[in-house]
Amino acid sequence: MSHPLDVSFDPAARWAAPDPERLVGDELRALLAQAFTIGESELAAGSPAAVALEVGPSALAEGPAREALVAAVGADHVVVDGPARAAHANGMSYLDLVRRSAQPPPAPDAVVLPAGHDEVGAVLRACSAHGVAVVPFGGGTSVVGGVAPERGGFAAVIALDLRRLDRLVELDDVSWTATLQAGVAGPAAESLLAERGFTLGHVPQSFERATIGGYAATRSAGQLSTGWGRFDALVERLRAATPAGELDLGRAPGSAAGPDLRQLLLGSEGIFGVITEVTVRVRPLPEVRRHEGWRVADLAAGIDVLRTLAQRGPRPDLARLSDEAETALGVATGGSRGTDEAGGCLLLLGWEGSADDVERRAAAATDILDNAGATALGPGAADSWRHGRFRAPRLRDELLGAGLLIETLETATTWRALTDLHARVGDALRGALDGASPVVACHVSHLYAAGASLYFTVLARRDGEDPVGQWTRAKAAVMETLAGAGATLTHHHAVGADHAPWLAAEDGELGVDVLRAVKRRLDPAGVMNPGKLLPPAP
Ligand SMILES: Cc1cc2nc3c(=O)[nH]c(=O)nc-3n(C[C@H](O)[C@H](O)[C@H](O)COP(=O)(O)OP(=O)(O)OC[C@H]3O[C@@H](n4cnc5c(N)ncnc54)[C@H](O)[C@@H]3O)c2cc1C
Repeated sequence: MSHPLDVSFDPAARWAAPDPERLVGDELRALLAQAFTIGESELAAGSPAAVALEVGPSALAEGPAREALVAAVGADHVVVDGPARAAHANGMSYLDLVRRSAQPPPAPDAVVLPAGHDEVGAVLRACSAHGVAVVPFGGGTSVVGGVAPERGGFAAVIALDLRRLDRLVELDDVSWTATLQAGVAGPAAESLLAERGFTLGHVPQSFERATIGGYAATRSAGQLSTGWGRFDALVERLRAATPAGELDLGRAPGSAAGPDLRQLLLGSEGIFGVITEVTVRVRPLPEVRRHEGWRVADLAAGIDVLRTLAQRGPRPDLARLSDEAETALGVATGGSRGTDEAGGCLLLLGWEGSADDVERRAAAATDILDNAGATALGPGAADSWRHGRFRAPRLRDELLGAGLLIETLETATTWRALTDLHARVGDALRGALDGASPVVACHVSHLYAAGASLYFTVLARRDGEDPVGQWTRAKAAVMETLAGAGATLTHHHAVGADHAPWLAAEDGELGVDVLRAVKRRLDPAGVMNPGKLLPPAP
C-alpha cells in the first residue's frame, strides 16, 4: 500500500548508520583490545540494530477493527506493510537491539497515524470497542521496553505513531510559555521556538529523535536539567485523550486546587491515554553558552564540589562528573580523551544565559573549584563532550556489532548515600557479569539540593549463547541493589516493561493499587499499553 508518510523509516537504522567520524577513541580502543580482544576487524562488523526484521501477517489487514480505525484516521493512515510494522517493533535498549538479530520481536499489526487530538480520541474509542491494544509511539527511543507491541491478551495491537502531531500551537512571549503538539521531536521544537527567539532547552541524549509527548510520558531528564529542571518541572499544562474522554490539566502557574493531576499524566507511559499537547515553560535564547572542563582528584572530591554548587550555589546548568573509570575511557567525551593527563576525574560544567549572569556564576564557581584543588582544563574537554554527546548511540551500535554487551542504567539518591550507592551498583554489576570482563563506568549528574543522579555504563564480553539471560540477570541484580538501598529505580529512563516488576519497591503496594484504580477509570477495556509501568497483576 502506498501512503504519503515515510513510516518505513527504521528508527534504529539512523543510529546504526556508519558515522564518518572515528567513534572509538584511543583509550577505549586499547581497552577493547586488552580486555575483550576486540580489534579493528570486529569493530567494522556492523550493528545488530541494522538487521531487517521479518514480520508475520497482520491481524488488522481487514475486518471490523480495521474499518473502525480507517473511519477514525483515513485509509492512508492505517499502515499494515511489513517495513512500517518492523520499524515500530521495538525501542532502543541493548536487549531490543540484541533481540532483533537473535530472536526477532513480534511487530504491531498496524501503524496508525492520527492527525490531532480528536483523531487520537477516535482511535482510542475504536480500539476499546474492538479489543485492540494501543502502544503510543513518539520517537521510539525507549530503553526500558516502553514501546514493545504487547497484545495483553487482545487479538491485535497497534503502534499509535504521533509524528503527525507536529505543530507549535502557540507561543506566549509575555508569559514565556509554548504549547507544542506531542509528536514534535527535539530538534523541530528547538527550531520552531528559535524562529521566535526562544528555547525549550531540554536536551536528553536522545534529543535527535525523542518527542515532546515522550518527554512528558517518561518524565525525561535533559543535560541542562540541573539548571533548568527536568521536563516534568517545565510543564504548565497537559492535554490528553483517554479511552474515557479528554483530560486538560493545568490552568495557572500555581494552584492550591487539590492534588496536581498533571502528575498523573507525567510519567504515565501511555497506560492511561495519550498526551496530545503540552504547554511548557520556555526562555529567551541564551546570549552566552559557556562549557568548561575541570580535573578533580577523585570522585569523592568531585561530589563535594557538586554538593556545594547544588546547595549553596552558584548552580550550573550542566554538571557532569565522571568517575575514574569513565574518565579513563573517555566515554564522557564521546570516545575521545577525558582529561589532559591520566588520573583524577573529569568534571564538566556549563553555564547558559545572559553574558553578565554567566560571568558571575562561572567566576563564583571557579573560586569554589580552586579552593577544592581542582585543575582548570579550559573549554577543550567540554567542547569534545558537546561535539560527541549525540554520538553515544552510534558508538554503542559499533561496539554491539563487535560482540560486546554495552548498556546504561541510572538512578538517583541523596548526597549522604551517593558514594555508597556508586560502589554497591558497581559491585552488583561486576558480580553478576563475573567471567565476562565487566567494565563499569559512571557519572554523577542532575544535581538537586538533596542529592544527584548516578548514570552507569557497563561493557562486558557478550554471552553468545544467552545474551538476553546474561543481561537480564545483571539488571535484576542492580534493581535489587537499588531497592535495598532505597534509591529510585530510574531517574531518566522511566519504568516501561523492564522495570515494572520493581514498581512496588518505589511506590508501595497501595501506591500501585491507586495507579491500577486510575487505569480502570480512564481505560476500562485495558487496551492502553499493556505490560508497561504496572507490575503484572497478582
Ligand atoms: C541513546 C539514548 C539516549 C537517551 N538519553 C536519555 C536522556 O538523556 N534522558 C532521558 O530522560 N532519557 C533518555 N533516553 C530514554 C528516552 O529517549 C526518553 O525516555 C524519551 O523521553 C522518550 O521519548 P520518545 O518520544 O522517544 O518516546 P517513546 O520511546 O516513543 O515512548 C516512551 C514511552 O512513552 C509512551 N509515550 C510516548 N509518547 C506518548 C504520548 N504522547 N502520550 C502517552 N504516552 C506516550 C510510549 O508508549 C512509551 O511507553 C535515551 C534513549 C536513548 C536510546
